[in-house]
Amino acid sequence: MTYPAANRTIVILGGGTAGWIAACLIASRWPQARVTLVESPDIGIVGVGEGSTPQLKHFFDQLGIAEAEWMPACDATYKLGIGFDGWSHRPGFDRYFHPFPTALDSHTAGMFFYNTRARRTGRDVVAHPDRFLLPARLAAAACAPQPDETFPFEVSYGYHFDAYKVGAFLARHAVDKRGVIHLQRRIAGVERSADGGIAALRCTDGERIPGDVFVDSSGFRSLVFEGALAVPFVRYGDTLFNDSAVVMPTPRDEAALLASQTRATALSAGWVWDIPLTSRTGNGYVYSSRHITPDQAEAELRAHLAIGDESTARHLSMRVGRVAESWSHNALAVGLAQGFLEPLEATALHIVIATVEAFLDAVDADGFTAKARTPFNARIAARYDGVRDYIVAHYRLNQRLSDPHGYWAAARAVEPSDMLKRIMSAWFTGADLAAEIDALDIGRYYNAISWHCLLAGYGTFPDDARLVPPGAEIERIDMARIDDFLRRCALNFRPHHTHLPR
Ligand SMILES: Cc1cc2nc3c(=O)[nH]c(=O)nc-3n(C[C@H](O)[C@H](O)[C@H](O)COP(=O)(O)OP(=O)(O)OC[C@H]3O[C@@H](n4cnc5c(N)ncnc54)[C@H](O)[C@@H]3O)c2cc1C
Repeated sequence: MTYPAANRTIVILGGGTAGWIAACLIASRWPQARVTLVESPDIGIVGVGEGSTPQLKHFFDQLGIAEAEWMPACDATYKLGIGFDGWSHRPGFDRYFHPFPTALDSHTAGMFFYNTRARRTGRDVVAHPDRFLLPARLAAAACAPQPDETFPFEVSYGYHFDAYKVGAFLARHAVDKRGVIHLQRRIAGVERSADGGIAALRCTDGERIPGDVFVDSSGFRSLVFEGALAVPFVRYGDTLFNDSAVVMPTPRDEAALLASQTRATALSAGWVWDIPLTSRTGNGYVYSSRHITPDQAEAELRAHLAIGDESTARHLSMRVGRVAESWSHNALAVGLAQGFLEPLEATALHIVIATVEAFLDAVDADGFTAKARTPFNARIAARYDGVRDYIVAHYRLNQRLSDPHGYWAAARAVEPSDMLKRIMSAWFTGADLAAEIDALDIGRYYNAISWHCLLAGYGTFPDDARLVPPGAEIERIDMARIDDFLRRCALNFRPHHTHLPR
């Protein structure tokens, strides 16, 4: 059955960030559609996603919402990437920076790849990613990503933000500017239609909310997909152990420079995020409940933050994996109802935006047909699996020595996917990793720079004692020239706090 989507009734279940992102994108693309979002304030939202990729900039740009409009309203800051601390105990590799791309990468990435390959094959050359990429230098100096007017090169960036405030901002935009109808109701049931799709949502007071198309953004409850439609859930728990988090914001240290990076610091059974907002610092320990208890995790987080009992902790559990199909019958799943990959690379909202856009593109091109749905589902599943493999690599390749709970050793022992096996094999046999990433066609999830940063950033090279000085067969990369190039590029950027829109 095909629906001319543009004038249909769309019902979105859930008013978390995913639901409101979907509402804004759908109402903006299909202005004739009647879009209703229903949510239950009693249930509330998860409210912890505080970091993004550059996809969120693309989202706001597309809606025509300026940074000056939304950033101050959401305590938002700029994000150049993620600093990984303590994931490796190899000398000289205790931390590295994973950047978003810049227009200047082409000047140094080739030399970075060259040197990492030389070091993999036993030559003693510089191969730490931070020495080759501009954003690492900018993040270390807490700079904003926008250069001076006189320096016409772009640095991609994401944001940090207060998830509750972003949700509220998008709700106002959707209702006031895009005509979305906002209902506050608790949904008690989902009514199926004769063709197996969804006919209506049923509220606790008996009210019926019918629709042509349903978006399930009901969070981990996944009321439509896992509930009514019984779409199978593909679990990732055998390769990604972290299933719990304890969250504890702290006041911002006004004396310190406002950071322009997320920090992801490895702890005994997971890692802790440190996200700088203008109003506070977001902190959360993402851990495996198979290795430590919630009390142990909370105590470890408090010790890490050097705080006593003055801050309240919030504990969460997470269902890790994805629905087998994100589009089933006349329903689309987005956000936590669709799946969850732990937040190490802050990809959740990225996938929400990518899912809704791909859905709109597919329906606009081929209507509500199998021709549209089948490749869409394959593409979204591949995206999830592609991002999962990159996240799994952080654990599988960790180089931590301290391991009181056996967590890091267990992570090193997980069975990698075939894709990850090929990446690891290319790296450890001294092959051309960028060519392998091209051959695997996975650069659209994480590109060759990201993979090199991860593998080189952990120092996964032959031990220092086995390295030999480079001989005549190796081209010498002039590190002084690279240092000078990056230093002079960096002179065009200003401190983060001076550059935020007010
Ligand atoms: C520990 C942790 C850290 C994270 N960090 C990041 C990050 O850094 N970056 C990132 O992009 N993402 C992150 N995420 C993911 C991010 O939080 C979510 O993707 C995002 O908040 C969207 O959530 P959601 O809208 O799908 O679900 P929710 O926020 O849970 O919203 C669900 C909605 O459904 C409604 N609902 C549910 N049941 C009913 C019912 N019966 N009747 C009516 N309404 C109902 C609720 O009222 C609510 O409005 C993180 C998640 C976790 C758990």
